[in-house]
Amino acid sequence: MPQLTLNNMLKKACDNSETLTRNELKFLLELENENDLQQLYCAAYSVKEKYIGKRVFLRGLIEFSNICTKDCYYCGIRKSNSKVDRFQLSMDEIISEARWTYEQNYGSLVLQSGERSDASFIDFVEEAVTKIKELSKGELGITLALGEQTKETYQRWRKAGAHRYLLRIESSTKNVYETIHPNDELHSFEQRANALKLIQECGFQTGTGVLIGFPNQTIDNLVDDVLFFKNIDIDMIGMGPYIAHHQTPMALAMDEMMGTFDEYKEHQLKLGLKMIAVCRLFLKDINIASTTALQALAPNGRELGLLAGGNVIMPNVTATEVRPSYTLYENKPGLDENCQSSRQALENSIHNIGEEICYGIWGDSAHFFERTK
Ligand code: SAH
Repeated sequence: MPQLTLNNMLKKACDNSETLTRNELKFLLELENENDLQQLYCAAYSVKEKYIGKRVFLRGLIEFSNICTKDCYYCGIRKSNSKVDRFQLSMDEIISEARWTYEQNYGSLVLQSGERSDASFIDFVEEAVTKIKELSKGELGITLALGEQTKETYQRWRKAGAHRYLLRIESSTKNVYETIHPNDELHSFEQRANALKLIQECGFQTGTGVLIGFPNQTIDNLVDDVLFFKNIDIDMIGMGPYIAHHQTPMALAMDEMMGTFDEYKEHQLKLGLKMIAVCRLFLKDINIASTTALQALAPNGRELGLLAGGNVIMPNVTATEVRPSYTLYENKPGLDENCQSSRQALENSIHNIGEEICYGIWGDSAHFFERTK
């Protein structure tokens, strides 16, 4: 594709004069040449600067349990993986991590865990949210990433004080979704898509996302994912490259098709960054996380994500002892780090790319306020 075309496409996306077409989205996601990619990332960065500034919002991530009722083919903590040590943090442990996050002035936290929907789990989360709100005098913003639930449960958690919810659709194409999940009621595509609607109806700022670059996923599938985000008017995106976990069916099926490990990592990282950039160009004022999976592929992966248009970082504040048990994929970074040392390193690296961390604010999605005005 001639350079002029790429320039025009990026100019059009930045000007906001017209939205990108399906073919253009596909063209951008297929870019491979290093110069073209830098142009893409720069254009996305300028859109981020315009809508958000050179600013990073933080959410302390508390991964409080790896007990999961689901059996997703890609995920290291899937129910059938009997090699995982299952854990559940106590209320006191969660509260102490939340207090640390509050004292660090992070502004927000995310509660994430494996997926459960039994009554004691629902009560436990409600209590945790209530207590975190209390200890922070209402100042800590709370995002939940706790999977599919009923409307009633979402309402209870919203009422307790959580105001953002992240539920990845994983793949927005039904028949692709079905190839990466067991074929049963617990893993129904319709139910997951419907859960996203319920989350929106309950008044949460709503985030979704997909796995990027798993076997047999095509660029057309990713284009459909980007269009899906727009269609459902999403406020935030948390997505990341797929990374194999060898105790899962997907990784076992994949071994043969991999080139060298370094090539694979580079490919996955690039695809992850392209998706961030394209989403920023297409969706403008939403929050986009630069996720840990990027960091698993390159030490500076999260910073590259910010430079490609991401604006949210979720530093892990979970106690160091249980981190190895929350291994969704291999090479998950930070397993032996503690929150304090990671905080300093993160601050320095963000400063080094010329961005500022916004301490003490919720860092909400501007898009949410636009759409609910
Ligand atoms: N159960 C919760 C969240 C826990 S898992 C929920 O449903 O929202 C959080 C995310 O990790 C998943 O949504 C999935 O997209 C991602 N993940 C799981 N396995 C992965 C892998 N092998 N590589 C990259 N990301 C993975």
